[in-house]
Amino acid sequence: MELVPPDMAAVLSPGSPAGGRWGDSAGPDVRRTRILLKLSGEAFAGDQCQGLDQDVISRFASEVSEVRARGVEIAIVVGGGNFVRGAATAGSGIEEAQAHYMGMLATVINALALQGILERLGTPCRVQSALQMQAVAEPFIRRRATRHLEKGRVVVFAAGTGNPYFTTDTAAALRATEIGADVLIMAKNRVDGVYDSDPNIYPTANKYHALTYEEVIRDRLKVMDLTALTHSMQHQMPIVVCDIGVHGNISRIVSGEDIGTLVSTRDAVAALLDRISGSS
Ligand code: UDP
Repeated sequence: MELVPPDMAAVLSPGSPAGGRWGDSAGPDVRRTRILLKLSGEAFAGDQCQGLDQDVISRFASEVSEVRARGVEIAIVVGGGNFVRGAATAGSGIEEAQAHYMGMLATVINALALQGILERLGTPCRVQSALQMQAVAEPFIRRRATRHLEKGRVVVFAAGTGNPYFTTDTAAALRATEIGADVLIMAKNRVDGVYDSDPNIYPTANKYHALTYEEVIRDRLKVMDLTALTHSMQHQMPIVVCDIGVHGNISRIVSGEDIGTLVSTRDAVAALLDRISGSS
C-alpha cells in the first residue's frame, strides 16, 4: 500500500522538483548533490580582518546562489573569528566559557548577514542556531534542516555546536555528518589548499593534491582542528580545502573537478593520485 499517493507528493513538498528532493533536479554534471560549506569569520571580513565586508559576502552569496541553481543542496556553517574568538578574548577579566559563548553569538551575526544577502538575491535561506534565539533564528533541528535542504533552501548553521570550548570547524564536521553531506568544503581565505608550510610566507611551499586523514594528523597540517578532523575520519567524510576567493571554485568541486586538496580515506586518495598521474 502506498502511504502517499503520487499526486499528493507534490502538495506535501511544494517548491521541490516534482515533489522530490531539490538534489534530484541536478544535472548529470553535478557529482555532489548535498554539500556543507564551512566559511570562517575571517572570510566575512575581507581585507579588513574585523567586522563585515558586504562586498565579499555578496560574492559568496552569488556563488552559493549559482551552485544552488544547479540543483545542489547547500548547508553552511559560519565562523565568528571576525568578531570574537573565545580563547583570545578570555583572560582579560572574562571567564573562558563566557568568552566562548560570545564567540558563538558572533557567528549568529555572520549567519544573519549571509541570510540577508542571499535573500536579496532571491535565494531562500533559513538560519538554524545551536543556541536558542527564536527572534532571529530557528533552533537547530536536524530533520527540519534536511527538509529545508530537500526543498531547495540554503541552511545556515549558527552558534557552532552550542557548547563552549569547541570550534565552528567541529560544528562543520558534526553537521556535515548529521545531514549526510557528500562533501565538507573548508573554504579558506587566500590559500588554495593544504601546503607543507605557509605559502604566504614561504614561496617554495609545496601543495598537496590529496592527503589521508592520518597524514594530516601525523604532520599536523592546517586543515581543521583535531576534534573536527577525528570526527571526519571516524565517519569517512571527504573534505576539500579550497580558496573561496576564487569565484567558481565551489561550482568546480560540485562538478567533481580536482581543485584544492582532498582529505579522505586511503582508497579515495590513491584513486585521485592515480587519476592525476594518468592525466599528466
Ligand atoms: N565557539 C564555541 N563553540 C562552538 C563554536 C564556536 O565556543 O561550537 C566559539 C569559540 O570561542 C570560537 C568562536 O566561537 O573561537 C568563533 O568560532 P571559530 O573560532 O571557530 O570561528 P572561525 O575561526 O571559523 O572564524
